[in-house]
Amino acid sequence: MHPCPCGSKKEYKNCCQKIIDGKVLPETAEQLMRSRYSAFTQQKIDYLKKTSSGRALENFSFKQTYDFAMQAMWHGLTIIKSIQTEEPNISYVEFIADFSIRNKKSKIHELSRFDKINGVWYYVDGKHIE
Ligand SMILES: [Zn+2]
Repeated sequence: MHPCPCGSKKEYKNCCQKIIDGKVLPETAEQLMRSRYSAFTQQKIDYLKKTSSGRALENFSFKQTYDFAMQAMWHGLTIIKSIQTEEPNISYVEFIADFSIRNKKSKIHELSRFDKINGVWYYVDGKHIE
């Protein structure tokens, strides 16, 4: 039993792994969010890029993301809320991701925007909270 890093309490292979490996598409923005968190913990930088669009893709730095993913020790993901807007192709997910860098605890608290483009969810923008 290898529990999924995203905290779903499912096995990794039955949760985020099959999404990260491209075997299935995430059905919801929250699933994409979870798989992106898991991808950070597994240093799957290509997946993080592939699932970005719009501003998130414009701002994407492979090296920065790789360095961050390599340095961070991930402690867990908390989904605060998932918001499906009236527009079916736009969702928001508020989350907290806990991690440490060189034994210093830190967190990302973000409201992320996800757009469904041609039937596929993408991370398009994020706003840090606090
Ligand atoms: Zn998962």
